[in-house]
Amino acid sequence: MDRLIEGHKRFLKDVFPVRRDQFRLLSESQAPQWLFITCADSRIVPDLILGTGPGDLFISRNAGNVVPATGADVDGTTATIEYAVEVLKVPHAILCGHSDCGAMKAALDRRGLDALPKAGRWLRHVESAFSHRQPQNPEDGEHAELGSLIRGNVVAQLQNLKAQPSVARALAHGAISVHGWYYDILSGRIERYDERERRFVGLVG
Ligand SMILES: [Zn+2]
Repeated sequence: MDRLIEGHKRFLKDVFPVRRDQFRLLSESQAPQWLFITCADSRIVPDLILGTGPGDLFISRNAGNVVPATGADVDGTTATIEYAVEVLKVPHAILCGHSDCGAMKAALDRRGLDALPKAGRWLRHVESAFSHRQPQNPEDGEHAELGSLIRGNVVAQLQNLKAQPSVARALAHGAISVHGWYYDILSGRIERYDERERRFVGLVG
């Protein structure tokens, strides 16, 4: 814990004073522009890879960046989506998967899930990824099969996201746009799913 306490001391000493006005504004309200749904994985640091900061991203994280299909029991992710769309009226929702995703590895080989009853049940939500698998990318090397499934999961969860009642209503009114992303930890690059071309392309150039 010492490392965290030291980190917080540095925040209070070096960061907070410089940004005091921003935090004062944020202390009363928030108006994030982006709902960002991603995996719980420690290697995804949204503010670091997107240049965002306090007040920018409304974030929902879970193992496998899942959006449970409509009709499933209530859960933290769909409740968070509903609030972001209905109350915060975010104009963009981003669903972001990532390379080397442990949840998707477990979906490929469920043997390790025997001792994890909760995770095993949760990962039933990613089974639809198999029917959306993307062409294997040679740049993924020996991880091409996993990469294909992870991108397929982005497409599958994007469909679930668009089918959430609040999102479907906002889409019908042109009040929101939804985006499917894949973040590659090794290269640092993000790919976006082009729904018209039905393939992943670089987010930048
Ligand atoms: Zn993951």
